[in-house]
Amino acid sequence: MLKLYNTLTKEKEEFKPIDSKNNVASIYSCGLTVYNYAHIGNMRTYIFMDTLRRVLKYNGYKLKHVMNITDVGHLTSDADEGEDKMAKSAREQNKTVYEIAKMYTEAYQKDFKKLNIEDTEYLVKATDHIKEMEEYVQEIIDNGYAYQTSKGVYFDTSKLEKYGRTLSNNNMEELLAGARVEVDNEKRNPQDFALWIKAPQEHIMKWDSFMGLCYPGWHIECSAMSRKYLGETFDIHTGGVDHIPIHHENEIAQSIGATGHIPAKTWMHVEFLQINGGKMSKSLKNVYTISDLEKEGIEPLAYRYFTFSAHYRTKLNFTWDAIKSAQTALNRLREATRQQKNGTEKADQNKIREYEERFLNAINDDINMPLAIAVIWDVAKEPVKSKEYYDLIMKFEKITDLALDRENQEEEVEYSDEVKELLEARRVARENKDFKTSDEIRDKLKDLGFLVIDSKEGQKLKKV
Ligand code: AMP
Ligand code: ZN
Repeated sequence: MLKLYNTLTKEKEEFKPIDSKNNVASIYSCGLTVYNYAHIGNMRTYIFMDTLRRVLKYNGYKLKHVMNITDVGHLTSDADEGEDKMAKSAREQNKTVYEIAKMYTEAYQKDFKKLNIEDTEYLVKATDHIKEMEEYVQEIIDNGYAYQTSKGVYFDTSKLEKYGRTLSNNNMEELLAGARVEVDNEKRNPQDFALWIKAPQEHIMKWDSFMGLCYPGWHIECSAMSRKYLGETFDIHTGGVDHIPIHHENEIAQSIGATGHIPAKTWMHVEFLQINGGKMSKSLKNVYTISDLEKEGIEPLAYRYFTFSAHYRTKLNFTWDAIKSAQTALNRLREATRQQKNGTEKADQNKIREYEERFLNAINDDINMPLAIAVIWDVAKEPVKSKEYYDLIMKFEKITDLALDRENQEEEVEYSDEVKELLEARRVARENKDFKTSDEIRDKLKDLGFLVIDSKEGQKLKKV
């Protein structure tokens, strides 16, 4: 029995799809705002989304999964203030918003591929659904949950008994303080949020609508697109925990306004990735991307493995030491898996059944990946070496997808004399704690196409 934690009820609940006849699970995942490179924190959330898909499939469900791409409307502050993130980025980089969207969409998709994040059944762009959003806003107005001002259309939060407190334990004071709402005398309540905004002259992304040239508020896209592809109610909605107090509360408000009910049955939220125990931020220069990890000789799949080391509802702390250990552990797990592959002994069938059960119990207990990985380690380390254990690990790989049957990449290669000499010189420099020289040699090796990785066994090279 698959159990998933639901932020809405604060309980682990048995998963039962709405479309039980066809055994289809319907999911909506809030996607990226494509104004910048996605960072490894974002990737934690999407690796979770991918794992959830795989766990549902492992349990025999078919999937109807929608993810959006936010390419308009997400302002620099979640509370309807500031500039559109896309427009800001375009201005700073002297590009059009469409060029920005294309560039960062391609970049994140490359990262998804490297992380073995599967494609969702539907990938939908906000700018392709402006008409659906406009209609959605009009329905909310018609139902009496929204009103027009000179600036646009606002959701009237006083119409909902529990506005802002469906998923979160927000109280109104906190909500107002959190939102740092700008005083706008035309708004009926300070916490009312924008659904449809009149575009100022200089605004680039704008569409002709019932209120003239406008652009959508950020939250409306998810309501309009989830309904279009999944219907008024669907099974699971995912996102990071930062979406709980504003974005998802507002999605719920919009859905109640238009359709009369909360759109998803189960709401799942991923806790944040932290860096060195704190926040990731531009000012601390610690906003790392998958490419940053690769530059340090870390495989993207080692990051996938690293995210499995904590349950998705607990914070995960990234440090360079921790990610290097994850890479080492993954290499060892591959080595242990290879030993099983080459094994010629007979496996104990009772043990196989027991491992299978333990693995299933782990993933079905609200996707407990640390436990699931522990089971894989137990199988890989079985003293009896058997191809049957290897086959079992490959079955578990339907969930983990860590290329566990891959040969480790730091295999013996013949290096040129120049490379060998540089390596030796660097070894000596490090021995003498001359890190300046050692770093210079590292750069030279980089120019020659090699990354140096300092491991316990000494220096290793990886082709870039
Ligand atoms: P955004 O493009 O800002 O909407 O973010 C995309 C997704 O990444 C959202 O689901 C966020 O909740 C999630 N996210 C942002 N920062 C982090 C983080 N540090 N750790 C985990 N998830 C994050
Ligand atoms: Zn969303």
